[in-house]
Amino acid sequence: MYKVVEIPNEILRVTCDPVTKFDKKLRQTVDRLFDTMYEYDGVGVAAPQVNLNQRLAVVHTDDETGPLVLINPEIIETSGTVVGLEGCLSIPGEFGFVKRHETIVVKTQDLKGRTQQVKASGFFARAIQHEIDHLDGVLFTDKLAVPDKGTDQRIVFMGTPTFAVSVLERLLEEGYNVVGVVSQPDKPVGRKRELKPTPVKSVPCATISRCCNLKRCGPIMPISWHSNRT
Ligand SMILES: [Zn+2]
Repeated sequence: MYKVVEIPNEILRVTCDPVTKFDKKLRQTVDRLFDTMYEYDGVGVAAPQVNLNQRLAVVHTDDETGPLVLINPEIIETSGTVVGLEGCLSIPGEFGFVKRHETIVVKTQDLKGRTQQVKASGFFARAIQHEIDHLDGVLFTDKLAVPDKGTDQRIVFMGTPTFAVSVLERLLEEGYNVVGVVSQPDKPVGRKRELKPTPVKSVPCATISRCCNLKRCGPIMPISWHSNRT
């Protein structure tokens, strides 16, 4: 596998060169890119992120869509827009909202150089757009979307792991109206099996005003509402 380079690094800002040789070396590079993505637990990685100046990336968001190799990819059709949360292996610990096309058709080449078209939507489409941006030296932090802070907007935040904490803290800092947080229930730890709150649940949320334990509300058993005013 490769080592993923992090910001600031010049290679993350170059417009990459097209892939021209569809040989054994390319296949090896693609294999190593997949290994790197799985090892780093990412959903995609682009060549410049491993210090290679090539229009090449791999994506694997879920088993339904499967692994995808992008070689000299080009978005040829788009429809709809949607704002969603993104992170990047080259920008550890940072997450932000980015507006993307909801559905795209990508023209790309396979390992033998044959042109193919891939239609993608939802998170799969988001990951592809994120990786194609890398090939033009664009990072998600260049295009952060700020959700409206209108008085009628209320946010219910869902998350459990440590990385979700920084996102929740950012929303609270920026003054968004977070009316509820949903995270996994407390887990018993240690010899005494004491209940330990999840990372997200330990965030002091002064703005949160509602409390409800979903365990009492029926079928959504594994999730519980959190409020500082329990
Ligand atoms: Zn990235």
